[in-house]
Amino acid sequence: MIKDYKEYKEAVEKLKRWAYAYYVLDNPEVPDEVYDKLYKEVEEYEKAHPDQIDPTSPTQRIGAPPAKEFKKIRHLTKMWSMEDVFSEAEMKEWLNRVYKTVGRTDLQFYIEPKFDGASLNLIYENGLLKSAATRGDGEVGEDVTNNAKTIPSIPLGIDYKGLIEIRGEVVIRKDDFEKLNQERMEKGQSTFANPRNAAAGSLRQLDPKITARRKLYFYPWGVGYNTLEYKYLHEMMEFVYSLGFMKPFKRAICEKEEEIQQLYEEFTKERDKLPVMLDGMVVKVDEIALHEVLGYTVKYPRWMVAYKFPAIEKMTRIIDIVPQVGRTGIITPVAILEPVEIGGVIVERATLHNYAEIERKDIRIGDMVIVIRSGDVIPEVTKVLTQYRTGKEKKVERPKVCPVCGQPVLDEGLLIKCQNLSCPARVVNSIIYFASKQCLDIPGLGEATVKLLYEKGLVKDVRDLFKLTKEDLMKLPGFAEKKAENLIKAIQSVKGTECWRFVNALGIEHIGEVASKKICEAFGNNWYKVDPEEFYKLEGFGPEMVRSIKEFVEVNKDKIEELIQIIQPIEPKQDEELLENSPFAGKTVVLTGEMRLPREKIKELLEHAGAHVTNSVSKKTDFVFYGEHPGSKYEKAQKLGVPLLPEEKMWEMLKEAGIEA
Ligand SMILES: [Zn+2]
Repeated sequence: MIKDYKEYKEAVEKLKRWAYAYYVLDNPEVPDEVYDKLYKEVEEYEKAHPDQIDPTSPTQRIGAPPAKEFKKIRHLTKMWSMEDVFSEAEMKEWLNRVYKTVGRTDLQFYIEPKFDGASLNLIYENGLLKSAATRGDGEVGEDVTNNAKTIPSIPLGIDYKGLIEIRGEVVIRKDDFEKLNQERMEKGQSTFANPRNAAAGSLRQLDPKITARRKLYFYPWGVGYNTLEYKYLHEMMEFVYSLGFMKPFKRAICEKEEEIQQLYEEFTKERDKLPVMLDGMVVKVDEIALHEVLGYTVKYPRWMVAYKFPAIEKMTRIIDIVPQVGRTGIITPVAILEPVEIGGVIVERATLHNYAEIERKDIRIGDMVIVIRSGDVIPEVTKVLTQYRTGKEKKVERPKVCPVCGQPVLDEGLLIKCQNLSCPARVVNSIIYFASKQCLDIPGLGEATVKLLYEKGLVKDVRDLFKLTKEDLMKLPGFAEKKAENLIKAIQSVKGTECWRFVNALGIEHIGEVASKKICEAFGNNWYKVDPEEFYKLEGFGPEMVRSIKEFVEVNKDKIEELIQIIQPIEPKQDEELLENSPFAGKTVVLTGEMRLPREKIKELLEHAGAHVTNSVSKKTDFVFYGEHPGSKYEKAQKLGVPLLPEEKMWEMLKEAGIEA
């Protein structure tokens, strides 16, 4: 219970500090329950003493009633647009223009990522958030103050009393975007075409409660009106971050054109792996006094430019929609597209997820659509451009029979399944999966070869793979002696693989890599003989998974036994002697940068030595090992004082543990 105003103020400061650690630093200081408990106490005190409420109290983020319409707010200084450049040549041209105007070439440039979200202008006065407005036409925006207050990474109060405009981008993370769309799809609502639209749509809600439910983040990228006296932009931004705002994961000061280009290439390479969408990087003249020298065109400042990444979203036409049967029998509609180049890759197919989605979005053959490609994800149709319709577009019917085996399908509304276990599509795809990288990893056994082996009657089941001979293969088109030999060798080398790879390769529904590892750690190769109830003891195993294993084993017991005989998977050994000598025993380890071996392989070695390998740095991390071009984890480790060690040191320590790569 909070007794008096002094205790109340202390509690509010504590909550603010914890929220900052959680949302801005991504490094929680206390468990959620502790935060929630204090939050409730603060709320109770405020209810009893409404005259004493601190406007920066976290409770003040929510509770504003829905608005009838958006009021207009005039920005104190104009929010400019930015000039875009798309190539090295254009970037060079821009630099030369700057050098010429300034009459010097010894300039430095401050470079930050360009987040793909919705711009927001925050005005602080006397240390309090006074208003928040969208960009609008650059002069006047819409008042979204109550919505902005619900975004935890926007401080309600700052430790600076002067009048200041802080500008930045409101973004939604890619995974939260996917979840949001999934939820909307399940509720039969329209989905957002991309994270930018989702962020903008979430910010422009008349009811702040809706904004509060969307997980939005705010990244500052600039300052409008201010009376700060800094010589360099990068110093001014450091000041802004120090007020409690999020820092971009990467920022740099470059002097030479080559440095800018190199940074651009790094950004381009990293962007797919980042949790938020970037559409370029922003290059700004660092010396603030030069901004006035360079001046402005009608539309944008001459001292900054957006160096855009190649687009990952393009418009194209759907030529056809074909059903595809996966290894579990689920029939997925696939759009065949007029080929289009997206970010350096020719895209000809895109997933449409399921037939319910086609109906909801009213996607038709012949439609113009927006296709998005992001990282290794399968390209996706995100939007239908109905304004291009000519009337000749054709609707797609739900399949009544399996397009491959002709058997009637099971239509469950959202999902349509072929239930025929010997359906060629299911068999072929389960063999492809069996041989894939995350399973038994058999190089040379891809889609084309598996199809060929199946069609020629050589492989009807994964067990047949191990009966193949060089002579069999040499009868196939395209198989000379060397190629046949290599494939046989690759198949045979699967013997003695890790137990979890084998379990994963079986393709049991709901059992992926993580679950397979847990199964093998607990039961080794006897996993299929244990009482199904035993699986409930494993972390994260629920009824769906247990039932799935039980049913799979009932049907396939003989097959599993036979395969274990052939493959003889190695059980994970808890070699106590090894762990005793290992400097990694019980340690939490994080990796960053490029290393001599693939990340997955290193992870395996470290885990074998008793380490727990995680993806993010926190105070609990014991070591961070870095290779070349380390990412933001490096900086974070530095800040938290976590031991940072070069890759070579890791190999030495592994050697100590008796593990040689
Ligand atoms: Zn079928």
